[in-house]
Amino acid sequence: MVRNAQEIWFAEKVRRAGFADAAAFAEHFGLKPYRLEQIYRAAAKELAENVEAVTPLPKELRAQLEAGGFSFDSITPVVIQRSSDAQTSKGLFKLADGAEIEAVLMEHFGNRNTICISSQAGCAFACAFCSTGQAGFTRNLTVDEIFDQARYFARELAAKDKRITNIVFMGMGEPFHNYDAVMNAVALLHDPHGLGLGHRHITISTVGLVDKIDRFSDERLQVNLAISLHAPNDAIRSAMMPVNRKFSLEEVMAACERYITKTNRKIFFEYVMLRDVNDSEENARELSRIMTGHLYHVNLIPYNTTPGASFAGTDQERIWRFAGILEAAGVPVTVRQNMGRDIAAACGQLRAEPRPRAKQVVTQV
Ligand code: SAH
Repeated sequence: MVRNAQEIWFAEKVRRAGFADAAAFAEHFGLKPYRLEQIYRAAAKELAENVEAVTPLPKELRAQLEAGGFSFDSITPVVIQRSSDAQTSKGLFKLADGAEIEAVLMEHFGNRNTICISSQAGCAFACAFCSTGQAGFTRNLTVDEIFDQARYFARELAAKDKRITNIVFMGMGEPFHNYDAVMNAVALLHDPHGLGLGHRHITISTVGLVDKIDRFSDERLQVNLAISLHAPNDAIRSAMMPVNRKFSLEEVMAACERYITKTNRKIFFEYVMLRDVNDSEENARELSRIMTGHLYHVNLIPYNTTPGASFAGTDQERIWRFAGILEAAGVPVTVRQNMGRDIAAACGQLRAEPRPRAKQVVTQV
């Protein structure tokens, strides 16, 4: 059954308050359908702080809803850090069961406001270069725990008369390992009666789960797909990404071909540049040989240091030489600009550490 965004939102929020479904909730509080619409709109579109702030609702009803454990937010900010680049903020949030996640806001000098959100607490895929993966898996996030990360930063931005322009599922976790909740979150983020983000402004990044890439192709959404490739052959990829032993490079690339045939949409391939691991000129030539699709785009990512890892990053000059080889072979390529390294907010650095590493702590909530 396809549910609309309001239903998706209520299903999770009323479950938290101990109700089986929205109908039972509505009946308990004597809520007519227009009241449910008012409540959803206040939370998702008007970004009201809490039920108490929704003044169109009778005061008594607001008090009853709050007393009944009905709340707008499933996540609580613990620490918000701001990078010295003045563009990047990272939030550490606590969930109801004590698990912790991080999400990042990147304000690209006022042009774009991108948020990078988590789909899981931890991650089960254990990529050797990623600090989330090294810390292990805790659990899947629910749809509202995903949505409320966006709600948090949307409220922060609204206070400055700004809004979220882009959302990337590139925080903690593997979005396709929590497929249903992520797709429901996409529906919520997209809903014109709520945050109203265009599908083309949402990107899902996957470690390369072939069955889920196929399933995603069939959704026929305009949501962008990014694949964490990181290697031009199976030997290198399997050595640092255990998932490659389940889904080989060839299988991943075949799924990408099927995706393009079905959707005619571009795919972004992420490639973290690791010194003497995957960054030789021969590796660049190998990569250009598998980047044969006309809608393929390679995004080279400078490596961000992670605790305890034995990797080193490729220097800038070598990254540009690698990019040049791809370009000469006709492969579209960009080099990602990393933001927020000083507060461990860059790609691969999210691990929900309770104590911040940097000095730029502006809010200890
Ligand atoms: N699990 C999903 C979503 C994570 S997105 C995925 O694998 O795509 C985070 C991106 O940053 C991924 O491409 C990831 O491989 C990359 N990354 C991980 N560790 C990194 C590091 N230390 N430096 C730079 N990029 C890293």
